[in-house]
Amino acid sequence: MEKKKINCEVCRNNCEMEVEVDDKEVIDVTGNGCMKGYIFAQTAVSEMSE
Ligand code: SF4
Repeated sequence: MEKKKINCEVCRNNCEMEVEVDDKEVIDVTGNGCMKGYIFAQTAVSEMSE
């Protein structure tokens, strides 16, 4: 289990999110203002692990 800080870039709020990752899969996201941030985090994590 690993925690990463990721800033959502989908809208101007630029929410600072803390993303819990286990075996390259997103387990939990906190700090996101909406679900778009959750999806942004999943995409960012999968791109990082390529
Ligand atoms: S999580 Fe939602 S509110 Fe926050 S920056 Fe991303 S799109 Fe905007």
